[in-house]
Amino acid sequence: MILPIVAYGDPVLRKVGDNIDKDYPKLEELVANMWETMYNSNGVGLAAPQIGLPIRLFLVDTTPFADDEDLTEEEQNALKGFRKVFINAQIEEETGTEWAFNEGCLSIPDVREDVSRKDTITISYMDENFKAYKETYDGLLARVIQHEYDHIEGILFIDKLSTLKKRLLKGRLANISKGKIKVEYRMRFPNMKKAR
Ligand SMILES: [Zn+2]
Repeated sequence: MILPIVAYGDPVLRKVGDNIDKDYPKLEELVANMWETMYNSNGVGLAAPQIGLPIRLFLVDTTPFADDEDLTEEEQNALKGFRKVFINAQIEEETGTEWAFNEGCLSIPDVREDVSRKDTITISYMDENFKAYKETYDGLLARVIQHEYDHIEGILFIDKLSTLKKRLLKGRLANISKGKIKVEYRMRFPNMKKAR
């Protein structure tokens, strides 16, 4: 089932997510619905707060990035078929040089900005079967995970922009929260006026 994606301005996007355990109600169904919702909106990642749940769960499928011809074959292969569920994730370490990448977010349609982040992360997490992992990623893989991880910490990519950029975006962000935007997928807008 495709779930509505929560738009910028909803307080759920600002909550630090809670850990969950195996007994979380209908977890399998939730994960399936989140995959369906993400693919329907052509995203490469989706975090639970974006569908209204303040829990530490996000998913990533970087396959669409593998077509980028600027990447080496090795990088393309790493991105292709990288499809993972991250539960109760904790970034243990971020290292390497900061680099800029043009990011967007399903909760903030039509806004794309260059964001600087460190190149390499080490993250511990559990998969959908609650098997534990500790892994290191770099490049675009790390980038997508960092963006989604921020969501479960209540952080959005626009928080990382300069004061000037933020000021320039203010009007557009207000419009997004009111639903004054054309978007191809289902969304839920916090400040939309109800029709009488
Ligand atoms: Zn996002």
